[in-house]
Amino acid sequence: PKNIQRKRGLQPPPGMTADVFLAAIDELRAELKDTDNTLIQVNGSGIDLVDGWYLDRPATTHDAFHIADPEALVSSASIYPRSTADVQTIVRWANRHLTKSGDRVRGIPLYPISLGRNLGYGGAAPRVPGGVVLDLGRNMHQILDLDGANASCVVEPGVSYFALYEAVQKLNNTKAHHPLWIDTPDLGGGSVLGNAVDRGVGYTPYGDHFGNHCGMEVVLPDGSLLRTGMGALPGPPNGTDNSETDNPAWQSFQHSFGPSIDGLFSQSSMGIVTKMGFQLMPAPPAHQSYCLTFPNEDDFSTIVEVIRPLAQRGVVGNIPQLRHVVQELNITGKPKSLFRGGDTANTSPLTSDEIHAAAKQLPLGDCAWVFYGTQYGTEQSTKDQIAEIEAAFKAVIPGTRLFLPKDVDPSHYLHDRALVCSGVPALRELDWLTWVPNGAHLFFSPIAPTRGKDAETLHNLIKQLHVEYGFDLFPSLCVAGREMHYISNIVYDRGDADAKQRAVRLMRAMIAACAAHGFGEYRTHLLFADQVARTYSWGGQALLKFHETVKDAFDPNGVLAPGRNGVWPRSYRGEGWEL
Ligand code: ADP
Repeated sequence: PKNIQRKRGLQPPPGMTADVFLAAIDELRAELKDTDNTLIQVNGSGIDLVDGWYLDRPATTHDAFHIADPEALVSSASIYPRSTADVQTIVRWANRHLTKSGDRVRGIPLYPISLGRNLGYGGAAPRVPGGVVLDLGRNMHQILDLDGANASCVVEPGVSYFALYEAVQKLNNTKAHHPLWIDTPDLGGGSVLGNAVDRGVGYTPYGDHFGNHCGMEVVLPDGSLLRTGMGALPGPPNGTDNSETDNPAWQSFQHSFGPSIDGLFSQSSMGIVTKMGFQLMPAPPAHQSYCLTFPNEDDFSTIVEVIRPLAQRGVVGNIPQLRHVVQELNITGKPKSLFRGGDTANTSPLTSDEIHAAAKQLPLGDCAWVFYGTQYGTEQSTKDQIAEIEAAFKAVIPGTRLFLPKDVDPSHYLHDRALVCSGVPALRELDWLTWVPNGAHLFFSPIAPTRGKDAETLHNLIKQLHVEYGFDLFPSLCVAGREMHYISNIVYDRGDADAKQRAVRLMRAMIAACAAHGFGEYRTHLLFADQVARTYSWGGQALLKFHETVKDAFDPNGVLAPGRNGVWPRSYRGEGWEL
């Protein structure tokens, strides 16, 4: 782990002196009955900023994948609640400690995280320096329900994909029900709940994580508690002691009665989710992963055109990934210098010749694009579907080649894709980080319609800007029937101030250029949220105005994650916080 020398001591919340803040912390400690001092860590000068490694407990002091000065997003304290009641106590405490500037009143800013492995999007860092990180995952990590018959679960924030996977395997081993799968994103160390509220995606047919949630319990910014969906209707009293029970349909039906509100708690600063239900996919009898390679760069738009109808008709089994062949290089876990004869001095992007020369030596051979897909069904139906997909591509792209896992070396990435696409958490994607020294990454993730022309426009914009700012371009496209997530992963050396500045400038240029063509990001790093929010400007910024109206009504003291996703409470607006 890299320890970063702190330049400053404790950074209290804005407008608060260190003494006043520390007195407030003492008060909270007493209220939480934190007698052995394990529930609150004050991140003062004695606490180093340790970036750590993915599987360590994520840093709650700062953004471990910093793209600015690490102290620009430093927290004042990390709090580890044990229960929903603790979370309510903390939120009420934050509302009681107000600072005033003119007619503006602010409470203590709280930034909830579940596990904080949101690397590439800001990690566990607060947006406002001196914000308090509410680390829910450390002590709240129970799987509260795993219902084999209903094929659903209820989890607390600290349940990782690995933990849920193990519990589901145990349930499957009892053979009492049809076996279930979970859906995991590329990296399995994150929080099931945290990823879903941030609208992350996975790759089985249940890959829309927020779309497959069913019921939430939320602490609102005033400390009160709410259940969404059928959970709003109490279950019948427990027959033995008359105690409260959960609604029996809470994980069966997503909605309740009246206006739907669940979406208000995703990518939001309107509430702290302490419990969340998910529906789980019954395991299919068989599944088969495969990849197809395409020889030419300019096959790109045709590939997208071929995928669209296949995906709409449900022939393509999951959300497939279309990757540029350069990704075959970085997923080997070898540094970039190795692909240019060990030259570590040259940090410029690999040239097309270098990429193709290196790809020739790898299991898939030289090509331009690689499509990773998985089919679900019976052995026969998956075979038939793969044959149909292969034929559809071969009809229009000569030189298309099909590979099954048995055709490639056991170390090839296709085997890891097969795991992730059948709901088995993996860590292979971490191998990208060895591309450069002190490797960190930043995601740029715009949405485009699944249309060849749009795909080409978007790709060319991003490609040209990567050249201009001197970065290798690593595109992975998650292609559905009507839309694609274009995920470009900027890998940079976080020990290199110039690389960090260029990465920031590249992000800003891509956000602006893509928005000018109608492409907007589905999610972004903390520091770019204001710019992205501003691009959603239809109707005189109607969406942002609505978000602000809701925010002001829910959270008058602005205690909950001010600035998260570009939504600032009234007491922060127009003071220069927006970037
Ligand atoms: P992961 O560990 O899965 O990557 P995080 O815990 O970092 O996920 O969560 C991602 C983001 O989602 C956080 O930065 C925060 O904005 C939001 N978030 C996470 N957990 C909660 C929660 N329990 N309530 C509200 N927002 C949350």
